[in-house]
Amino acid sequence: MDLRVGVVTDTPSAPERFLSAYTTLRLGGPAGTVTTAVHTDEAVGAVQSAAAAGRRLLVLAGGSNVVIGDDGFDGEVLLLRTRGVEVVGEDASGVLVRVAAGEPWDDFVAYAVTSGLSGVECLSGIPGAAGSTPIQNVGAYGQEVAHTIAAVHAYDRQAGAIRVMTPEECGFGYRTSVFKHDDRYLVTAVDFRLSRSGESAPIRYAELARSLGAEAGDRVPLRQARDTVLKLRAGKGMVLDPEDRDTWSVGSFFTNPVVPAGLLAGIGEAPHWPAGEGLVKLPAAWLIEHAGFPKGFAGDGVAISGKHTLALTNRGSGTTAALLDLARTIRDGVRARYGVELHPEPVLVGCEL
Ligand SMILES: Cc1cc2nc3c(=O)[nH]c(=O)nc-3n(C[C@H](O)[C@H](O)[C@H](O)COP(=O)(O)OP(=O)(O)OC[C@H]3O[C@@H](n4cnc5c(N)ncnc54)[C@H](O)[C@@H]3O)c2cc1C
Repeated sequence: MDLRVGVVTDTPSAPERFLSAYTTLRLGGPAGTVTTAVHTDEAVGAVQSAAAAGRRLLVLAGGSNVVIGDDGFDGEVLLLRTRGVEVVGEDASGVLVRVAAGEPWDDFVAYAVTSGLSGVECLSGIPGAAGSTPIQNVGAYGQEVAHTIAAVHAYDRQAGAIRVMTPEECGFGYRTSVFKHDDRYLVTAVDFRLSRSGESAPIRYAELARSLGAEAGDRVPLRQARDTVLKLRAGKGMVLDPEDRDTWSVGSFFTNPVVPAGLLAGIGEAPHWPAGEGLVKLPAAWLIEHAGFPKGFAGDGVAISGKHTLALTNRGSGTTAALLDLARTIRDGVRARYGVELHPEPVLVGCEL
């Protein structure tokens, strides 16, 4: 999907009215109306006029972290297509880069790598827009955006004004923040503080370190880090490819559950890692596979990706109802086998698990 192409219309006609056109799952029924914002003031104006008219509004950027019901969204869908990357400051602590909310995330990562700016290289290949990254504190291969976000610019519907929020105010956690599941804010831009260096941040992820022939904590050339991450991701169907239905997903459908350490006794040999006082994090993919759901496990027109157990995919003839049926089967199977509850990572719109 080309994020730069939007449909500018207030009275959309088929097929663009169907939200499946804007989601990486290629699922989602019709919208009431679809509008596109290419400037920040248009986006803020759309939010204000929807509020004034009592109209429901759904913001969509890359559509790579939403599951939209087959009945669609009976309101206004705002496609965020603002663009721009600008260096706004530099001091001993790093280079401050302001990125418009609609800027495709991976274009920004490529720009950083090419410009010798270090800090987001391990987040290469993640679909969607830069302004969506704070929503769930996007992370992969040992980096998360909370490590480099200096400020989030957001229109606050309650205050009726744009606020500049500190990282503390953003409440970043594992795949979450104050922005997730709350439509109080429209993120308009994000400031990242990056290091001027041709080398990556220290590599923290064991699989990535192995692929790089490096040790955990080593730094490698930015380009090498990006290329290696892209290769690892592609092997797991985690880089969008219109020809490869293993990528017709929202990435990981479930987050890795954090459970009391006491539960481990009933789980046996599951790998796990510490997650705070008395808590451990378990790999959802391991639980799913060991509960009897292998790669390729299929539902009606939907299936677990053939490359990654955590990705639920549309094989081309799927529906949101079928995808959620598959998700329920997996969730219930893991609960029955291990007593562990899996939670969805994407935002569900007009549907529930
Ligand atoms: C193949 C694949 C791989 C993925 N890999 C990863 C990964 O490694 N790590 C990871 O963390 N995620 C991953 N994801 C999930 C997803 O790409 C990210 O969460 C991404 O940041 C979502 O961006 P988006 O622009 O597509 O958001 P959308 O899906 O358009 O929106 C997601 C949610 O954010 C809201 N939203 C979007 N923009 C704004 C805004 N400006 N202001 C307020 N609310 C907004 C929407 O209303 C919606 O609720 C992957 C997805 C896919 C399909």
